[in-house]
Amino acid sequence: MKFELVKLPYAPDGLEPVIGKQTIDFHHGKHLQTYVNNLNSLIQGTNFENATLETIVKESDGAIFNNSGQVLNHNFYFTQFSPNGGGKPSGKLADAIDAVFGSFENFQKEFETAGVGLFGSGWVWLAADKDGKLSITKESNAGNPVTKGLKPLLTFDVWEHAYYLDCQNRRADHLKALWKIIDWKAVETRY
Ligand code: MN
Repeated sequence: MKFELVKLPYAPDGLEPVIGKQTIDFHHGKHLQTYVNNLNSLIQGTNFENATLETIVKESDGAIFNNSGQVLNHNFYFTQFSPNGGGKPSGKLADAIDAVFGSFENFQKEFETAGVGLFGSGWVWLAADKDGKLSITKESNAGNPVTKGLKPLLTFDVWEHAYYLDCQNRRADHLKALWKIIDWKAVETRY
């Protein structure tokens, strides 16, 4: 299977000022494109050649895991934003957040704290188990909660390439601002 660069559901400058056009151009057009290209070349002639992306992430290691993980992670990441995002989730996702975290505001606080506290490069995730119970997981480098049998719902990329052009070293400021562009309707469809 030949993997392709995920299409952005917004214009490259559509998320400004939270994520600037230059960040999108590099992050989506260069970083993610490189992971896609690397993955397509690495799986040629292997057992993974016709596998789904999620299967490759679950079953591979080394360079194939790193590149497939980064493709899967960024596919979730880039499709969860909207120029008209923000606000709060609704329906059963909102209920599930309240059940575990007490309130949406407390969930936001815990999610940001997890992202700020992740040392080095990685991802913070909201994920659901098979019963729909939510948890926050921290994954280093290319990690994705699918390797733990969990369903990924929402993610913040805390690699420096995600925020350095916009916020330099201020990771906490970047994570706090991301709430303004979250497309909760898109996140709810993953639950
Ligand atoms: Mn990234």
